[in-house]
Amino acid sequence: MAIQPLQEIFPELTILSIPLRNQFRGINYREVALFKGPHGWSEFSPFLEYGIAEASVWLDAALEAANNPWPELHHKKIAINATLPAVAPKEVKAILQSFAGCKNVKIKVDDFENGSLLVEATLEQIPDAKIRLDVNGRWDQSSAISNLLEYHLRFGSIFEYVEQPCQSTSELAAVKAESPIPIAVDESIRKSLSSDLSVLKDIADVAILKWQPLGGFTSAHKIADKIGLPVVISSALETGIGISHGLALAASFKEADFACGLGTVALFESDICDPAVTAEGGFIEVARREPAGLDKYQASAERVQWWNDRIVKILEAK
Ligand SMILES: [Mg+2]
Repeated sequence: MAIQPLQEIFPELTILSIPLRNQFRGINYREVALFKGPHGWSEFSPFLEYGIAEASVWLDAALEAANNPWPELHHKKIAINATLPAVAPKEVKAILQSFAGCKNVKIKVDDFENGSLLVEATLEQIPDAKIRLDVNGRWDQSSAISNLLEYHLRFGSIFEYVEQPCQSTSELAAVKAESPIPIAVDESIRKSLSSDLSVLKDIADVAILKWQPLGGFTSAHKIADKIGLPVVISSALETGIGISHGLALAASFKEADFACGLGTVALFESDICDPAVTAEGGFIEVARREPAGLDKYQASAERVQWWNDRIVKILEAK
């Protein structure tokens, strides 16, 4: 297709690079593209290593939110969980304080010992915390089963679920049969998009849905219907603009049984929205947001060019 000038498709297109307080997903800066459509501001922010096909799905979400009204909303505010990166235990207090009032805490864990130190440090700050572990698929089947039994033995029934303990669906099925902790799928959903999503119901108890990675509101609802599990909406580490759309996605589901992972702006040095789209009393209100100013975190000319090239390549491939 012929490409219109980018500023016509993406009015006020701005590339930002925002420092993170602690390294997360191996990055220290979050680069995002913001733009404004007829229905408000939107965000396009696939991680830098993502190729054209994957990033194209994120662009669908960004364009849908800018150019269309939000879906019907069933909730005015959304319960939020704290998100704890794999940090040193001494960092835990300050991080949890930036998720005001959140009683559910998702902890990024790798090996059992370091993970349990983070669980202990969390319980020191929030004695009645409900914990979610996120493994990002890094355990094999047998270490997943033994680690989850260890967590249960040491801490009891404080765990809501473990997110993606293993990568493959066959390993997850074996883990689910033995695990004392319910299983949530995250990465498995994206990997199974072209196959039968209904199999996920047999290997998990909860589905983690994300606004951008699943291609936006309409697409995420179709996927949720096919999976048929209770959903938790989580962020892809967006700014307050992207988070506002994640909140709208959460509010567009009638059931709201779980706190959502949408408080992650707290992991940034600061938000580009004012007030920041972070939890107050454990909740965030659902509302369209605008950036308060775009000067502070402007990306370099070289990075702007990289993002412009990336967007053009995606549009050319559509
Ligand atoms: Mg996850």
